[in-house]
Amino acid sequence: MFDTLTDSFTSAIKKIRFHDDDKALTKALGELKKNLLKADVNHKVVKELIADVQVLTKEKGIGKDQFLEALRETLYKLLEVGGNKGFTFAPNPPTTILMTGLQGSGKTTTTGKLATYLKNKQKKVLIVAADLQRLAAVEQLRQITTQIEVELYEDEATKNPVEVVKAAMEYANSKIFDVVLIDTAGRLAIDDELMDELENVKKAASPDEIFYVADSLTGQDAIRTATSFKEKIGIDGVILSKYDGDSKGGVALGLSSQVQVPLRFIGSGEKMEDLEVFLPERIVNRLMGFGDIEGLAEKTANVIDEKKAKLLTKKIQKGKFNFNDFLEQMESMKKMGSMSSMMSMIPGMGNMSKAIKDFDFENSGELKGIKAMVSSMTPKEREDPDLLNNSRKKRIAAGCGLSDVEINRMIKQFKNAGKMAKKFSGKNGMKQLQSMMG
Ligand code: GDP
Repeated sequence: MFDTLTDSFTSAIKKIRFHDDDKALTKALGELKKNLLKADVNHKVVKELIADVQVLTKEKGIGKDQFLEALRETLYKLLEVGGNKGFTFAPNPPTTILMTGLQGSGKTTTTGKLATYLKNKQKKVLIVAADLQRLAAVEQLRQITTQIEVELYEDEATKNPVEVVKAAMEYANSKIFDVVLIDTAGRLAIDDELMDELENVKKAASPDEIFYVADSLTGQDAIRTATSFKEKIGIDGVILSKYDGDSKGGVALGLSSQVQVPLRFIGSGEKMEDLEVFLPERIVNRLMGFGDIEGLAEKTANVIDEKKAKLLTKKIQKGKFNFNDFLEQMESMKKMGSMSSMMSMIPGMGNMSKAIKDFDFENSGELKGIKAMVSSMTPKEREDPDLLNNSRKKRIAAGCGLSDVEINRMIKQFKNAGKMAKKFSGKNGMKQLQSMMG
């Protein structure tokens, strides 16, 4: 995420040295301007940003630190229109959010992602199926809510979203939910019928906030539709979906200031975990190439139990990491979302090779094979694969559709990996690892 934008800023930063002159500043700003336009940032936004950084750097006195400071302040000002918000809870539960957006923007998926984000924060969430326009929308929500184990309110008996929402709100109040997310109807384009329906649903729900889901792949159109929605029904935040498929990424930089509504979240993949909170103070660091350790810590905390993590480290150090631990780790990793979204939060890891960033835990053939094999083993065998004799290996191979040669190879690999991990978890482990990665 933010790769192209981060490259734009870091390559400009590199152009300025410690004690520098006007010429170097002009060069750095020229580089920045060119890169930002290439990343599809709106030209007005670019012009203002460059002018602001220039004035501010000169005020501070030209030099690398001053340039960095000026850049940080300007970026923050650009991104923080409407505040540093993320998800805001209403004083009295439930916090009710209307999810709006055009058809295909990713509204329904994003509703599920937001519910997952809130569930990870131990909130009780109700999703309301009020998109009765698109036939498959309710079924899609059934699948999503079953997967993420969140309650769904639906009423097949009516085609009237206002009725559904009214009844859902009564239900939500009686059951004490922390958050109610209402999935509303979308259309291919903005029309009066849609706006009337949304207006009526809005009255029935009296939401605390209205989120607009904008497809980042539509570029500057995302800004235009968000602005229209803001003018017509009023929106409090934008969620930019499909950002993972947007190689340029410039929309995210100008959005808050262009629409004058804060960008609250970014959707970065098709999985339920692929939603990132957009907090300007953190994003500025990421854009400038300094990573986002706080964000990473938050993501990790959602899935890793601290006690277990300590225990695991000990096991690795003693070379006792076994297949049971492996299965558990695989499940945790899945919950963290894509590798690339994690890497971009680690300072200096943004430029990690694409192969590593694109590594897909769930769909890697190798890992699937190991998982199938481990699942066919007894718990005792998972703890100590040396217990496996040839006939057991054959049974396991048959059980998971692999050959016994493959089984032998995978067990051997796993043992070697355990030895490596033991080595790297030792005193100079991190240094060794770093020197290996170059
Ligand atoms: P809706 O009509 O607005 O409710 O759209 P959907 O939620 O059905 O999403 C449309 C398509 O976009 C689906 O195939 C989703 O899986 C996909 N999608 C949604 N958000 C993202 C995202 O952040 N990244 C990617 N790659 N795909 C997404």
